[in-house]
Amino acid sequence: MGGLNCANCASKIEDKVSKMNEIEEAHLNFIKSTLNIKVKEGYKEENVVSKVTKIVDKIEPGLDIVVKDENYSDNKDMDPNKYCSSSSCSAGDHDHNDSDGHNHEHGDSDLKILLIAISLYAVGLISNYFGAPKAIYLLLLGSAYIISGFDVIKSAVKNLINRNPLDENFLMTIATVGAIAIGQYPEAVGVMLFYGIGEYLESRAVNKSRKNIEELMNIKPDVANLIVDGEVKEVAPENIKIGDHIMIKVGEKVPLDGIIIKGESRFDTSAITGESVLKSISQGEEISSGVINKNAVVEVEVTKTFKDSTVSKILDMVENATSKKSETENFITVFARYYTPVVVALAIAVAILPPIFMQEPFSKWLYRGLVFLVVSCPCALVISIPLSYFSGIGVSSKNGILVKGSNYLEALKKVDTVVMDKTGTITKGVFDVTNIVLGKGIEEKDLLKYANIAESRSSHPIANSISNYCKDKVSMDSSKIDSYEEIASHGIKVGYEGKEILAGNARLMTANNIDFQEIQNSTTKVYIAVDKIFYGCIEISDQIKDGMRATIQQMKSVGINKIVMLTGDSDNVAREVSDEIGIDSYYAELLPNDKVDLIENIISEKKPDSKVAFIGDGINDAPVIARADVGISMGGVGSDAAIEASDVVFMTDEVSKIVPAVSIARLTGKIVWQNIIIAIGIKVLVLILSTVGLANMWAAIFADVGVTLIAVLNSLRVLRYK
Ligand code: ADP
Ligand code: MG
Repeated sequence: MGGLNCANCASKIEDKVSKMNEIEEAHLNFIKSTLNIKVKEGYKEENVVSKVTKIVDKIEPGLDIVVKDENYSDNKDMDPNKYCSSSSCSAGDHDHNDSDGHNHEHGDSDLKILLIAISLYAVGLISNYFGAPKAIYLLLLGSAYIISGFDVIKSAVKNLINRNPLDENFLMTIATVGAIAIGQYPEAVGVMLFYGIGEYLESRAVNKSRKNIEELMNIKPDVANLIVDGEVKEVAPENIKIGDHIMIKVGEKVPLDGIIIKGESRFDTSAITGESVLKSISQGEEISSGVINKNAVVEVEVTKTFKDSTVSKILDMVENATSKKSETENFITVFARYYTPVVVALAIAVAILPPIFMQEPFSKWLYRGLVFLVVSCPCALVISIPLSYFSGIGVSSKNGILVKGSNYLEALKKVDTVVMDKTGTITKGVFDVTNIVLGKGIEEKDLLKYANIAESRSSHPIANSISNYCKDKVSMDSSKIDSYEEIASHGIKVGYEGKEILAGNARLMTANNIDFQEIQNSTTKVYIAVDKIFYGCIEISDQIKDGMRATIQQMKSVGINKIVMLTGDSDNVAREVSDEIGIDSYYAELLPNDKVDLIENIISEKKPDSKVAFIGDGINDAPVIARADVGISMGGVGSDAAIEASDVVFMTDEVSKIVPAVSIARLTGKIVWQNIIIAIGIKVLVLILSTVGLANMWAAIFADVGVTLIAVLNSLRVLRYK
């Protein structure tokens, strides 16, 4: 046992290891009980790992360390599972640790020991009540004490040898031994017993939540059915190569990203997107790993290795999320560092000063001081707060919202301004050609030919739409393109067979001194010029995404008061879109730099302690995403640049995810604060009451393990979102 102090020592371990010369960074994930270290170049991993192991062992002896070499060759995962996660350490049944059975036994034996101790304790108290000889009473209570406190006392001794006197086991031992010394037998034994019971229950609760969180993120496929020469072979997804063909049977999880090459089926995408409606995907269409095949066998050609597939990316992101800590977590770390020494110092003062200066009886004040020691662990906060954030991140991911750190979850809570890109974010980014205007003496097929050539290499939604439209009408030879330049927020300049083709908005034409007629209406326009001669204009229009108006209403109802649209498109288009969906303000005809400047302005004007989120589709808005307080990209883990730059990723193309994202963040924040207030409040109350003689050891043990249990259970409420 003695897990609780681990919560405390966890931060000590992290601290110590980070300060090693050989270590670039170290993150201890208390919830997952792993220590992630990055070894600096030039150091030998084995040596560093054994050094780290020594540090860990010194701070918390008797630890089970499993060294795992995951993903990167310079990343070590240690699993201090068996000991270092609250009390659950000792009873931890962490999946990674293949010793499930063993751990269960361990948990059961803890329970058996506790039950024996409780029985002895109860019989002792009853026998005393009925006037049995004192010797029997003391023998029964004494054995209950030793049985329930054996592990605690053992750790206390070890920690003392390691000169770590502020260890919780040690303080608990002093408190109970002190109580025995002044003749408070039932309380001393009771405190040790309830400490054990509390730790046991906490370990159950923490493990349960770990399990729940793991289930939430149970998207990892077990096998891939590789098709070799018409036969199906079960292979680990890690061993599949790009271009391999795999079969997805009904009921199976798609193991890797790919394209369906045979068949069609409906897929449950809820684990990835949080959407419960089934999605039909047929031949030729892309399919993401992690979705579940619901009704027919399909064959998939793999387009990404397992490491680059959606599932791995999501898991990586969520698992690394805890290394970016929220301000509240940092506060708790600092708080924990000072809390114990301060309370211990107060305990000594309370026990010593009144007897010396006020001629008070020593035993009375010693008792009050001992009460202090019982509440001297900040464990309730150290365990429950990271757990709350991790739960929040888990629930978000279940809802198709990947949050890349606790700090972003904390920031989301405070979002009251949302800035959005227009094309691809508010609108579908799929343009229909609505009208074609030809330049003087130009034929439509020539206009389309050059438009098609110009747009062939761009990934902008406009380009995709025009290429689609032109596909069957004209042909081109892309090998004849001799230069290509995409001018952000203007359009495209292409050299083709010695000709210069320009395709873009009016700004592009003006900038190149093209003589053209500007058309005034609310369509998006792509003007085309070839060798400075105006060829015409393709008018296209985009559709607003379904339910945008309702989304804007919902955003307002969760307190997002300011909603702003940014676009590089014309003022006409911007006005029409913003009127239609009902947003407060827009800025049009922006260059990418203008967007960055604008977001900076908006951030500088925001209320203190509120946050500005930017939502974009990741196409040409990565700089703005990076600049916002909370940068959000949409549409899954497709575009690497956007994922890199963003703090939050919506797995679907829907802006509406901002509503659950903010709600989950608020729920998490609320629970975190409840825990802080409950834990600090009750502890301080007990300290005050004890000083004036109104709180006894029973109150103190409740303020310690009872409060921790309440805080942990309260954290679990995050998992019940929706
Ligand atoms: P948004 O802010 O709406 O996402 P962008 O900044 O991406 O828009 O683009 C602004 C404008 O630049 C577009 O409305 C269009 O007129 C022009 N443009 C950008 N890329 C292209 C392209 N590939 N082809 C034609 N025009 C383009
Ligand atoms: Mg855009």
